[in-house]
Amino acid sequence: MINIKDNLDKIKAQIQHACQQNGRLIALNELTEQISAQFSPVSLLAVSKTKSASLVEQAHLAGQNDFGENYLQEALEKIALLSHFPELTWHFIGPIQSNKTKLIASNFSWVHSVDREKIALRLNQHIQNDNGHNTPLNICLQVNISNEESKSGIDIDELFSLAEVVNNCDNLILRGLMAVPEKNAHNRCYEKMQHLFEQLQKRYPSVDTLSLGMSNDLEQAVAHGSTMVRIGTAIFGERTKKINL
Ligand SMILES: *Cc1c(COP(=O)(O)O)cnc(C)c1O
Repeated sequence: MINIKDNLDKIKAQIQHACQQNGRLIALNELTEQISAQFSPVSLLAVSKTKSASLVEQAHLAGQNDFGENYLQEALEKIALLSHFPELTWHFIGPIQSNKTKLIASNFSWVHSVDREKIALRLNQHIQNDNGHNTPLNICLQVNISNEESKSGIDIDELFSLAEVVNNCDNLILRGLMAVPEKNAHNRCYEKMQHLFEQLQKRYPSVDTLSLGMSNDLEQAVAHGSTMVRIGTAIFGERTKKINL
């Protein structure tokens, strides 16, 4: 049987190690002059797509609060089943159809896969109209970094105009960038993402998130400034079924 707590511990150690290798650990005693623990600037998003609510619950009981989902219908079922854990934070990381923006806006705290103006405007509008408490939605723009025809993501030359649109939406907070580099992508790809992220940070003070790195490229991503890795397989095991809801 899969031991989710062990897997989470291993991944956290791997993140810590990668941060150390790249000089990215911040010693807390530099800040407080008291605590000597070290703080990792890379947070862990557990990607639970195709995995059951009970596995998500196991991960949560082992201390994990942030979960990423790709398929809306599947996610909504899990979110409902786990609604007695209000500390869970749900991130939508899959392709977005415009007729799904309403349910995404009302059920998720983060959306990593915004790659079109129309989607951004619709998410913003739904929060305004439907979401009584008006909690703003955290947004990362997905960049088509490997320039593959089939992949989602905005082209680099249109990125900054999309960023401006999101930044001007009252109910959206522009948090940063997301990418899914192709398998065995060259370091150049990661360097390009890091550079775009730094440029975006200079323009917008709300930008603090580079959502980059999965089970197979965590080290490469951390070496290039990732602040959030999205890990599925290494926590929950291989995915046997491909759900396409
Ligand atoms: C599935 C998925 C992940 C997790 O990938 P693993 O290789 O299982 O760690 C991360 N990001 C996105 C966008 C995904 O679709």
